[in-house]
This record gives sequence, structure tokens and C-alpha cells, in this order.
Amino acid sequence: MSEEAITNYRRLKQFVLSFTDGVLFGVASLDGLEEKLDTEIRDVALKMKYGISIAKRLPVAALETITDRPNRIYKHIYRQTNIQLDNLALLLVDKIQGMGYSALPIPASVVLDWRKQNSHFSHRHLAVAAGIGWWGRNNLVVTPQYGSQVRLVSVLTDMPLKVDTPLDRGCGDCTDCISACPAGALSLTPPFYDFQKCYSKLREFAKKGGIGYDICGVCIKVCKGKERSHEGKLTEVSGEDCEHSKPIGF
Ligand code: SF4
Ligand code: SF4
Repeated sequence: MSEEAITNYRRLKQFVLSFTDGVLFGVASLDGLEEKLDTEIRDVALKMKYGISIAKRLPVAALETITDRPNRIYKHIYRQTNIQLDNLALLLVDKIQGMGYSALPIPASVVLDWRKQNSHFSHRHLAVAAGIGWWGRNNLVVTPQYGSQVRLVSVLTDMPLKVDTPLDRGCGDCTDCISACPAGALSLTPPFYDFQKCYSKLREFAKKGGIGYDICGVCIKVCKGKERSHEGKLTEVSGEDCEHSKPIGF
């Protein structure tokens, strides 16, 4: 790895972490992640070599107001955190372009196909490859620091960067999200995530209580990272089913 790649990594990480607390930063090579790119950005994105994953912690007290369904304060923090992340990604793009390289921001929460819940790129695959967290039983990224109580954004770039190592840990014997899920959509073994059950419940929530948005929050609220995570690989979960990505509905 070149000195330039290490220096660039440090500069970008320092830049991102300087804006606020509760932010995680990681980098992965895009090799092997090409199939996660939507056709709209594919040609340009294939010229990039690296993906930068940024996670931002959600406000904990707001998550604590969730019982067995989403509420209006969760809807608000969900939307605002996505905006915060999109702004952070754009500032990072400015920084990278100012250093003479190209960068493509991937929106935090733009759904291209509601039935498949597809977005421009899989933030979760990049985050796992970049060592931000592991693939949890809730089908979300679980960070050691904040559990799944984060939102994600990604920036692709051709700037030479040091890459991070994926985490060697998993959910262990925790099953908190499985018991909390109001749709019964999660399980220990494949197919561990029942997209249809989850999505039907999200639609039900959207129509009730002034939510009007396909969100839930329950399997995020209960996943608290280091308080609940356990060392060791989660061998039951392959992560291969993530055609049913959850960019917006959780
Ligand atoms: S709640 Fe427990 S089992 Fe579910 S994703 Fe989080 S750590 Fe894994
Ligand atoms: S987002 Fe889906 S999987 Fe998670 S708790 Fe809600 S219904 Fe269950």
C-alpha cells in the first residue's frame, strides 16, 4: 500500500469525523461489489476503485420512544439523519474533487424500485466490506459501537485509499431483533429475512398513525451494539439474500 493511499485515507477520515460525533468511517475496494451498482450509475461508478462508507448514529432517546411500531419522532429523525448524511457525503465529494480526484455520492435513502427496495448501490454491503459492522440477523449492518442504530451513506472515488478489514465478529447468541419483530420476519436460519412479511407490516404502519412512510424502527431500537453483540462469526447468515435490501423500510 502506498504512502499516498495512507495519507489520503487519514485526511478524508479526519475531515469526515471533524463535523460531528457518532460518525464511523471505513473504506473498501469496489472489486466484487460491481453487481450492487444500479445501471443508472454503473458506467461512471466502474471507473472508481474505492467505496467510502459513513455511518451516523441515530438519536438514542428518540429510538427509545418506539414501542412495537414507528412513531412521528422516529419518522423525523430518520428523514433528518438521511439529509445530514447526504450533506456530509456532498462535503466529502467537494474535498475529494478539491484534491484532484473524482467522487460519486450515493444517496442515503433513494428507492429506485419499491417492490425490490433497490437503491443505486448497497450501502450495507459496502459498510460490511469496509469494516463498519457485520451483517446482523435483522438484515442490517450491526456496528460494535452503536449496533444497528445508525444510518449509512456511501461515496465512490478513484482517489487511492488504504482499505479497512471486515470485522471478524457477529451476532453470536443474541436474538433480540427476532423476538421484537412485529411481523415475525426474522429468523436464525436462511431464509432468515422474510421481505414480504416485513414489507406488509411497513405498509400497514405507513397507513396508520400519521406515519405515511415505509418505516418501522423496531429491529433498530433493540440492536444496541456492544451491549448486545457477541464475539464470533454468525455462520447462519450468508447475506446472500439481500436482493431484499432495506434502504428505507426499517
Ligand atoms: S439485535 Fe442481536 S441478533 Fe439482532 S442484529 Fe442486533 S446483535 Fe444481531
Ligand atoms: S423493519 Fe421489518 S424486520 Fe425490522 S422489526 Fe420492522 S417488520 Fe420486523
